[in-house]
Amino acid sequence: MVNALTTNAPSGGIEFHNVLIPDQKDFEVKLKPLYTGICGTDRGEVNGSLSFAYNQPGYNFLVLGHEAVCQVIDATENEYGIKTGDYVVPVVRRPGNCVNCRIGREDNCSDGKKNEAGITGLHGFMRDYFFDSPGNLVKVNDRSMVREAVLTEPAKNVMKAFEVFDTISKRSIYQNEDSTFAGKNCLIIGSGSEAFIYTMMAHEYMFNVYMTNRHTLGESKLSILEKTGSIFFDYTDNVPLKGIDLLIDTSGDPATIFKFVRMMNNNGVTILFGTNGKAPGTQVNGEDIDYIIERNICMVGSVDGAKKHYFDALRYLEKWGHSQNSVINKLITGTYSPENTEIFLTKPEGEIKSIIKW
Ligand SMILES: [Zn+2]
Repeated sequence: MVNALTTNAPSGGIEFHNVLIPDQKDFEVKLKPLYTGICGTDRGEVNGSLSFAYNQPGYNFLVLGHEAVCQVIDATENEYGIKTGDYVVPVVRRPGNCVNCRIGREDNCSDGKKNEAGITGLHGFMRDYFFDSPGNLVKVNDRSMVREAVLTEPAKNVMKAFEVFDTISKRSIYQNEDSTFAGKNCLIIGSGSEAFIYTMMAHEYMFNVYMTNRHTLGESKLSILEKTGSIFFDYTDNVPLKGIDLLIDTSGDPATIFKFVRMMNNNGVTILFGTNGKAPGTQVNGEDIDYIIERNICMVGSVDGAKKHYFDALRYLEKWGHSQNSVINKLITGTYSPENTEIFLTKPEGEIKSIIKW
């Protein structure tokens, strides 16, 4: 029996209670979650709006949580070098049998028969302890970054999205003559933790980086964003940039996305990342389609990331964490106890990333 935060997917609800979890299987290691992150997916499950979530087969509940950093409390020797005492991030997706799942790219699953811990058919990480195969764990080498490593899961999505961007960018000469993206514009829609991590990665590509939202940012978020060297604008007010080369949406709001697609430069790339099944529709007309075609604009969806993107994410988090003006620790805006289930129902003012300390 363990204490766990559970929901009943997809109808919703939240409970912190004692539950019976699966026994340890051969070769599995025992893990103690230290921190778990809360995101829109968890809140969608709790409020019953995430229709694709479902319970682990054989259970009438689902343990929540897909963003975690854990300590290994009991490991036998394994080929992955995971040892007792190590800090690790467990991967979310677990492969099915399709061709992409079989080559370690369950992030690109072809038939949808993968599982996601805490989301689709597999218990998540919000519990006192659990067992997992060492092959599902990514080691956190820098022990000064254990708390910030809870951002690895959201950051791995960003790593995957930039891999998608790199792939699309090969279709034409898109960079500057000096091979960089310096002077080109990247606009990120939204102001959550993913949006902040996207801004940091866009700076790695030397883009001019802008963030926008329907509402202005609070002072603390604004000062964090400024430290990253990015510019914020409230798009209902003024739009300070003329053309966009890379547009990244974390809002899932069609009206906002298409407002900015109409500002894309030739060969521009739009990455759709944010999901929002409840957002109202928008009218796309023939002129919009002509605009996209005539400029070779590519719109692409990107979800999840492969295990290699977790390693990339940790490398960048470590780099950013040790750089001057680092804002990585400031992205965690609140730490809560598992008993405080209210945090799943109401988003705290100024939240970037709320985490639970176990
Ligand atoms: Zn698959």
